[in-house]
Amino acid sequence: MTLVLEDVTLTYPDGEGARLTALDAVSLSVPAGELVAVVGPSGSGKSSLLAVAATLVTPDAGQVVLDGRRTDRLSRGQQAQLRRDKIGIVFQQPNLLPSLTATEQLQVMAHLSGRAPRRWRDRAGELLDAVGLADKADSRPHQLSGGQRQRVNIARALMNEPAVLLVDEPTSALDHERGAAVLDLLAGLARDRAVATVLVTHDHAHLHVADRTVTMTDGRLTAGTPATPRG
Ligand code: ADP
Ligand code: MG
Repeated sequence: MTLVLEDVTLTYPDGEGARLTALDAVSLSVPAGELVAVVGPSGSGKSSLLAVAATLVTPDAGQVVLDGRRTDRLSRGQQAQLRRDKIGIVFQQPNLLPSLTATEQLQVMAHLSGRAPRRWRDRAGELLDAVGLADKADSRPHQLSGGQRQRVNIARALMNEPAVLLVDEPTSALDHERGAAVLDLLAGLARDRAVATVLVTHDHAHLHVADRTVTMTDGRLTAGTPATPRG
């Protein structure tokens, strides 16, 4: 599945009766199996880009096209179904449910999409194995390190076999070494499973995992990395 953003503009009310432009005519195309990294200063619009790509936020102008289908022509219910079945989202903070084991965190996702119970268990086990947590399947969040929680978060996002993966600064709570391990894992999974992946990262040391890098500046997207790395 190819993710395409065409000329997307998004504004927010700025509180003084005017509008703040978070995304300014942004276009981006991510084919299946490609990992695009997005860098740029805080407040430049990176999270807004992911929110629009995820169909969580409707832009003022422009569109999000998934495999040739315009998502703005879908109903709210169809968009929710699309997110559940096709889009994996990894936020900065894992937001795991405190009372559930790692396996159960993943099973909740499959439950929401109404899949067969036996398959959930198999797939949850397989994904926890893929992220190196086979021996933590029965651990709850308080028994896991920050890096392990973020790996559960990634496994959970892959539970419903998404075609598109949207990842927002997944390593911000991790030290460099653990962050690098998480990103290598993410890149490997995205490639192996032919997932179109957009990765927002503040850490330029991680960009080697990406097929290409784009930079957000004041809501505008340009190819390549900035001359003076920031963040
Ligand atoms: P980044 O992820 O690069 O830090 P964001 O996409 O979060 O940037 O924000 C882009 C701009 O939009 C910022 O100026 C931010 O303050 C503003 N913004 C983000 N979300 C909202 C919102 N819900 N309401 C109003 N302004 C917002
Ligand atoms: Mg952000």
